[in-house]
Amino acid sequence: MTDRFGRSITYLRLSITELCNMRCRYCMPETGVCKKRHDEMLTEDEMIRAIEAAASLGVFKLRITGGEPLIKKNVLSICERAAAVEGIREVCLTTNGALLPAFSAPLKAAGVDRINISLDTLDPDKYAHITRGGVLADALRGLESALSEGFSKIKLNAVLIGGFNDDEITELAELTVRYPVDMRFIELMPMTAGAFAPEAYLPSSAVLEALPSLEPQPEDGGVARLYRLPGAQGNVGLISPVHAHFCVSCNRMRLTADGRLKPCLHSPREYPIKGLSKEDMILRFREAILAKPAWHGELTALHPSGTGRNMNQIGG
Ligand code: SAM
Ligand code: SF4
Repeated sequence: MTDRFGRSITYLRLSITELCNMRCRYCMPETGVCKKRHDEMLTEDEMIRAIEAAASLGVFKLRITGGEPLIKKNVLSICERAAAVEGIREVCLTTNGALLPAFSAPLKAAGVDRINISLDTLDPDKYAHITRGGVLADALRGLESALSEGFSKIKLNAVLIGGFNDDEITELAELTVRYPVDMRFIELMPMTAGAFAPEAYLPSSAVLEALPSLEPQPEDGGVARLYRLPGAQGNVGLISPVHAHFCVSCNRMRLTADGRLKPCLHSPREYPIKGLSKEDMILRFREAILAKPAWHGELTALHPSGTGRNMNQIGG
């Protein structure tokens, strides 16, 4: 289905849980989240019904996200059923990677095609700091296990944070030489006022300045601008939601674990679908797609996102 601005909506990001085994500083509060009542959250059947509704309107790419999707006990069943929905051509999953050593093989068997792993730093102390307690070695073991399963694509995501990991741009990008992976640098999005100093909000062009040998690559239809280091096996991607917003080609709809369709990541507008039949879900999807704004509005340290949620409650 096409929205009011001629954008074809083909991609659904489904958050299957708000909960997480980490507490990344840019994503969720130190205290975690108030666990919602079970009956407030989408059931597995409702998630599958929502995917069917989306697919009937032309969505063919699905991303399973969270919170941390791998702590959801029925994640494999959700992936397997999602991959079997008519019209869904690609199931991707975004994870912090810590539980991947146990999950890579079953995810692959369940029909997951692609994996994105969040990796902001290669320094164990900095990793523990930014994730508030995560263990870098677990995420790296997760990467190794995903590599050995042969997913069709593995992408690493680093949130670019001035004064934190801008001194590691080269080291992170060189992972694309060592492994057949893409390394994407994502601009830090201001989710709440004052969480980071203004200097933390670096434009992704900082990567181009740090790596003059990067060679531009053809677009692949995704949101990242692509480059490659000489001799690399994968691309370096720049994702610039803040400084060069990609709203003009936004093809996505988000569905939260508590059953709210979000036409835009940074808008408080939400369309509840919990408890609806598939036919009514289709109507709600139509409403939400037609409510997609042209762009997300200004995002700066002083004008944070108006979304009204933390990122773990949206799915990124
Ligand atoms: N737990 C999984 C993970 O960390 O990959 C999936 C959920 S997480 C919310 C999805 C993505 O959102 C991650 O790549 C994370 O780095 C990104 N993210 C969270 N907060 C962000 C922020 N304030 N700015 C930019 N990216 C953010
Ligand atoms: Fe958890 Fe992912 Fe958010 Fe980090 S970015 S707190 S791993 S949901």
